Amino acid sequence: MKRYNHVIVIGVDGAGAFVKQADTPCFDRIFAEGAVTYSALASNPTISAECWGSMLLGVGPEVHKLTNGIVSSTPYPVDSAFPSLFRRIREVMPDAELGSYCDWNPITFGIVENNQNVANATARDTDLMPMICDYIREKKPTFLFTQLDSVDGAGHGHGYGSEAHLRRIHEVDELMNDAYEAVKEAGILEDTLFIMIADHGGFGTGHGGWTDEEKYVTFAASGKGVQKGAIEEMNIRDLSAIVLYALGIDAPAFDEQGWTAQVPAGIFADAVLPEYRDISHLTGAAPRRSKVAHTSELI
Ligand SMILES: [Zn+2]
Repeated sequence: MKRYNHVIVIGVDGAGAFVKQADTPCFDRIFAEGAVTYSALASNPTISAECWGSMLLGVGPEVHKLTNGIVSSTPYPVDSAFPSLFRRIREVMPDAELGSYCDWNPITFGIVENNQNVANATARDTDLMPMICDYIREKKPTFLFTQLDSVDGAGHGHGYGSEAHLRRIHEVDELMNDAYEAVKEAGILEDTLFIMIADHGGFGTGHGGWTDEEKYVTFAASGKGVQKGAIEEMNIRDLSAIVLYALGIDAPAFDEQGWTAQVPAGIFADAVLPEYRDISHLTGAAPRRSKVAHTSELI
């Protein structure tokens, strides 16, 4: 059953669970009646390619094996056994309007197949948001995925949880609100599942390890039929299952081709879901710290 004609994801790199500490009036308002958690589990290691890859592919890093180096240098294989959400949606909805607007372009380049007619743009998030808003207003996308990078930059530069990091979360909160307003202006708010998600947090001025500050992240969803309250258990790769569910597209069976995304309890009020499986043996297995940065510092 198709529940929404539009799903819009605002991805905030490096925000972790720090949204809870930051001053985020827009987040608070947009998700006041929504489903929210500050303890969605990131992928291990808590690095961008591994985490965004998990979200868009529905499989963990132990399966997709993407790294920052790979997604920066290698286009995502169009015939991968692990199709991205874009390919999965396109296969079922040939006319869907799909967009990937990412500040960190390796997401679009290295995680999204380049033959799926996905509208895309890349720019620093402050410059990207007006393009995102225009795209929403003009094209009313079926599925739009975005990634805003500056919060992670503030974490690397000043420390995760620092005043500068929290201030940048506050500023990006306003950028997110611009997208939300564009959804309203497009006249599709009633038919949109609006999501905010972070890929990982950080500890000190880095991330890649498995501290609570790195591995717990924010996820929030708002839309008709979304249950108000806290989501108890969730992994970021579940984003894949949530998006497909919202659009009424069948997801692979659990474990089929490594697929481990599940629709968590506590998001869709009327959902009858299989019991949520604990996959922590897959995600917590190899705590380690990476020296690989992912923004312009990438080597
Ligand atoms: Zn990241």
